Amino acid sequence: MNFELLQKHLQQHFTGIKILGQERIFGGDINMAACVHTNEGDFFLKWNDARRHPNMFEAEFKGLELMRTHSPALRIPKPLLCGEIKGTSFLLMEFIENGHPKRDFWKNFAKGLSSMHKTSSSFFGLYHNNYMGSLPQSNKRHIDFSNFFISERLEPQIKLAYDRNLINSSDITKITQLYGRYNADVPRETPSLIHGDLWTGNYMIDNQGNACIYDPAAHFGHRESDLAMSRLFGTFAPEFYHYYNESFPLEPGWQERTDLFNLYPLLIHVNLFGSSYVSSVMSIVKRFL
Ligand code: ADP
Repeated sequence: MNFELLQKHLQQHFTGIKILGQERIFGGDINMAACVHTNEGDFFLKWNDARRHPNMFEAEFKGLELMRTHSPALRIPKPLLCGEIKGTSFLLMEFIENGHPKRDFWKNFAKGLSSMHKTSSSFFGLYHNNYMGSLPQSNKRHIDFSNFFISERLEPQIKLAYDRNLINSSDITKITQLYGRYNADVPRETPSLIHGDLWTGNYMIDNQGNACIYDPAAHFGHRESDLAMSRLFGTFAPEFYHYYNESFPLEPGWQERTDLFNLYPLLIHVNLFGSSYVSSVMSIVKRFL
């Protein structure tokens, strides 16, 4: 990122703003990031080659806004500006200072997320497409969850994995045999506004000791998707699930359905990080068949 050009760009939107310095932040999977110090305070900036992931930051901006609108109880960074400077796309947002968890951290986090999940819609999907990690995610709207999940989540990833020679046609036959389980096993619920990529790396503790969620793949989906992802790589604390269930009870057996939902992020991992994730996908398929 050329910070001189960024300053000029920012001055068109925020009068008198001056960049005083910047510090790189590492830990993201996809983009470059920094804390930008200015005379107006600190901001969080992410950037990438604009050609690589078209409209990624516009979609993230809208996702953050949508979640902020519907979950006042949960800390979500306020997106401020996205744009492009000489082939580099960027997203500027509120900077979240790190802190230590306060006493009711998991309780508040659970209540905040469950209240966002209570935001409903008449369809699964969204008005615009977005990304899951760095892969495009179609949010074409469906009335039925299993049709949505199979057509807009599993099938595009299966096709991509096949085209990249990461899985073969016999794997595909087995995965598709699982499709009936989404209709039979997943409880019918109204669509919920979900974060969409709520693995343990996508929340942080702010300086008030509260959870802050970021880097969403937001859409109206099945709320068990968020809970499943929170248990995919590491897990939230047991109290979180207890308090979540208290404020928005889950249908019995949700723990056993976790892997049905996590098939999607695991297929994403196959496509992003290669064949080492195929065995995780196939062992889920084997178990459910
Ligand atoms: P990527 O899109 O590359 O996955 P992330 O959005 O996950 O990047 O951000 C990278 C890292 O930056 C996160 O792991 C987190 O530690 C930190 N981070 C993300 N958003 C903010 C923010 N608004 N304020 C401060 N730090 C943030």
